[in-house]
Amino acid sequence: MNKKLCPCQSKKQYIDCCEKFHLGKKKPQNAKDLMRSRFSAYALSLVDYIIKTSHPKNVCFQKDLKTLKEEILRFCKDTAFANLKILDFIEEKNKAFVTFTAYLKADKKDITFTEISHFEKKDGKWLYKDGQIFEGERKDL
Ligand SMILES: [Zn+2]
Repeated sequence: MNKKLCPCQSKKQYIDCCEKFHLGKKKPQNAKDLMRSRFSAYALSLVDYIIKTSHPKNVCFQKDLKTLKEEILRFCKDTAFANLKILDFIEEKNKAFVTFTAYLKADKKDITFTEISHFEKKDGKWLYKDGQIFEGERKDL
């Protein structure tokens, strides 16, 4: 049995946490769970899940899909996803905002950032629309 902890830092087992979302058995009920599952998908290099949970209007789709997938995969492989802290979560009817700090390292360099992510609900599914990104930890957002 797979006993590893979920990379989304929930301190739960992966099988009890984001795995069901990654396997498409269940969909996240809110944008916060979606955000966590996207973070763990990055940590596990699940590129298709990241694409599937991005809003069609997300700027990333300006690239062709093959290039986009390669770029995401490279980022996943080159990055250590050390920690995730969710700072704020606001949900309205069909949109939501999640503020979080992602503690990342790439090539031993700290590339931690804080993001205010914007999600939209489309056909009953939460999707990542866009985000405002700030370098490092931010306590003032
Ligand atoms: Zn998880």
